[in-house]
Amino acid sequence: MLQYSIEMNLQYTSTRDNKVRCSASEAILKGLCDDGGLFVPVELPVLPVPVRDICGMDYKECAYTVMKEFLTDFTEEELRGCISRAYDEKFDTPEIVPLRQAGGAFYMELFHGKTIAFKDMALSILPHLMTTAAKKNNVKNEIVILTATSGDTGKAALAGFADVKGTRIVVFYPKDGVSRVQKLQMVTEKGKNTKVIGVDGNFDDCQTGVKAIFSDKELGRRLDKKGYQFSSANSINIGRLVPQIVYYVYAYSRLLKDNVIGDGEEVNFVVPTGNFGNILAAYYAKMMGLPVRKLICASNENKVLFDFFRTGEYDRNREFILTSSPSMDILISSNLERLIYHIAGNDPEKNAALMAALRTDGRYEITSFMKKELTGFEAYYSSEKETAEKIGSLFKESGYIIDTHTAVAGAAYDKYLSDTKDKTVTLIASTASPFKFAGSVMSAIDRGYEGKEEFELADELSVIGKVKIPPAIEEIRNAEIIHKTECKIDGMMEEVERFLS
Ligand SMILES: *Cc1c(COP(=O)(O)O)cnc(C)c1O
Repeated sequence: MLQYSIEMNLQYTSTRDNKVRCSASEAILKGLCDDGGLFVPVELPVLPVPVRDICGMDYKECAYTVMKEFLTDFTEEELRGCISRAYDEKFDTPEIVPLRQAGGAFYMELFHGKTIAFKDMALSILPHLMTTAAKKNNVKNEIVILTATSGDTGKAALAGFADVKGTRIVVFYPKDGVSRVQKLQMVTEKGKNTKVIGVDGNFDDCQTGVKAIFSDKELGRRLDKKGYQFSSANSINIGRLVPQIVYYVYAYSRLLKDNVIGDGEEVNFVVPTGNFGNILAAYYAKMMGLPVRKLICASNENKVLFDFFRTGEYDRNREFILTSSPSMDILISSNLERLIYHIAGNDPEKNAALMAALRTDGRYEITSFMKKELTGFEAYYSSEKETAEKIGSLFKESGYIIDTHTAVAGAAYDKYLSDTKDKTVTLIASTASPFKFAGSVMSAIDRGYEGKEEFELADELSVIGKVKIPPAIEEIRNAEIIHKTECKIDGMMEEVERFLS
């Protein structure tokens, strides 16, 4: 009996060392493997029921059906508890992820959570998964979440972990590198266990600083004595990836329920991509048996992934371009490592060698054998001009207003269509509310809006788009600034210790 239950428990291993074995809850607590690799399930589970059966489920039930296959060491009660505390009235619609048909595609709206970006889909549940995992593993320490953000992750993590017992959270953001709304969302955070710090540097500096704090063993020992241990809310944590698989299955089941598609019919997903977390979740959904034809990876002008899918060479040695879709301004897509590992036949040595090349030379090239494994992917990119034009044309055509990140995907899909004439029903991941980027969105609709004040534009957007201003925007309009701390790059560790003393 015992033997049986051990075998039933899905184990996680490292993309760089197959000897590593741990449970789902341990992987969530650790975030990153000691060898620098990412946790992956030893075997990918399959959907436990036909998709037809999911048509009758609400979002929470669908989440339980999918997530229980990955988080096998959580009891039913534990997992259902996490899910029901995450996907509740924090979302402004009971559907959680509504679909909106416009311009020949279905937009899968992932921005109805508290901070109006898709990061809420995973970060509303991660704190519950983490505190449950801590209990299961008899962790007595308080868990300190360290986060570096280029904008959206920071506030979503703050909102998720604010006043969660047994946790504290520190967010570092580049003090001159985030949008006005993004900064206001973070520095007005009221949670008593939160600390937000503006760093005199860019996002890479914040990220490098956080990694240095993580790997400082001496600091780790000092904090352990005081009853603290670090963890991560970054998208490399498997606890963020698994909840993201859910909405692909859920969205498919809605189309099936509404007879837009028939049983077993394939759909395409277009995903605006940065760190490769969201689209990797779609790939896992496909591997679980969801009928998917193509996964279309959409990039902005930082088109390192587009080049990779076209040529098989990943090369980060290029200019970093600041675009109107800042959450996709990234040259090292961390989660791509998981895909590389899988297409190498789950081979940690091959993957580790390529990641070492990325570290030392900033580039690597996959074999032609591995490249053949990528046929389920397509890649397109959109220039700044094409992105703005997509926002404008879709609004004219349908009255529907999308944000800049979603527009990158929309424009990429248009190019895919004109290349392939593919008639497959297609869903576009809509990753942020247009209110979060009202400046860029409104000037894409009409040049006359250029230079106007952000909140004034939010009011205008509400009028022309016929949508209510989300509470996330109203909240920050006149909110008190609580977090004023700023520091130099080499002062980050000191700030963490001060916060914890
Ligand atoms: C984070 C983010 C993305 C990119 O998602 P990845 O999982 O990093 O690929 C796209 N759009 C928005 C609005 C985001 O916040």
